[in-house]
Amino acid sequence: VFSRKTFFDVFGDSIKNRSSPMTVLYIARRRREGQQEVMELGNPRPGTIRLGSRTQRPGWVRDRRAAQYYQEVPADVVEEAILREDRVDMRCYGATPIELQMLDATLALVPTDHLQRVVREKTAGLRVVNTTGRGSSYFGGGNVQQDDPATSFDDTLAILVTHSALHDNAALGICPTTLHEFGHVMTHNNGLSYETFSPQRATALRNLATTEGRVSRNPGQFEGLCNAYMYFLCYGSVEASVRRWGTLPSSIQKDPETRDALRRLPAFTRLPAEWQARYAER
Ligand SMILES: [Zn+2]
Repeated sequence: VFSRKTFFDVFGDSIKNRSSPMTVLYIARRRREGQQEVMELGNPRPGTIRLGSRTQRPGWVRDRRAAQYYQEVPADVVEEAILREDRVDMRCYGATPIELQMLDATLALVPTDHLQRVVREKTAGLRVVNTTGRGSSYFGGGNVQQDDPATSFDDTLAILVTHSALHDNAALGICPTTLHEFGHVMTHNNGLSYETFSPQRATALRNLATTEGRVSRNPGQFEGLCNAYMYFLCYGSVEASVRRWGTLPSSIQKDPETRDALRRLPAFTRLPAEWQARYAER
């Protein structure tokens, strides 16, 4: 029981980073009919979302806890949606329709095998939120080890992505933060590690999280690796702009040496040929 809409039916060519049909289901209600779960479709509901800023802007509100500023924006919000990608259903909560388009284009960059692992491990789904890290930031995402009692779901079972992480990448049409967070799941014995990297490169990537201009607010050793994964999936995009974003300007997170190491990891060697072909050097 679902409606099928193609990408261009919904938003014209306002987001261009997608050429294949998509499916987004807005779920109003789930119920059981005997053995079967029936999903009833609904519409987005008027609500508000918050977008963050690190600097004061006219009309923006200071959030002391986050030490950031935010603006509350009226937006239609889809309480629950299903993004169906190559027969894998990713449940997505709290996104606006335009954010769902971006997330759908993002999921199209993820190998089916990886998507299945994320769905299996993160049973609370993809959650688009105002802030992550116990309300400490309007930016980025979260893949947390501790549940936040303030939220209605188990944070440890969710992929968290902020509205700002989507909004700030609207021109790109995809959400890199989501790919970074999937990368964390892939480090949980799912074939993403430093094992194929030279010791020097592995150390350099590990150090990115702690050195000046660090890549993440988390000091974890996998931040550089998850960024490399994020750029690599973008490198495999059929869209020139996304592929360029995953390559330039070159850094150790997205240069040929890092791509070569990633290609030799189990996460990628076990993929079907058509997925591996996407990541070939060109
Ligand atoms: Zn991270």
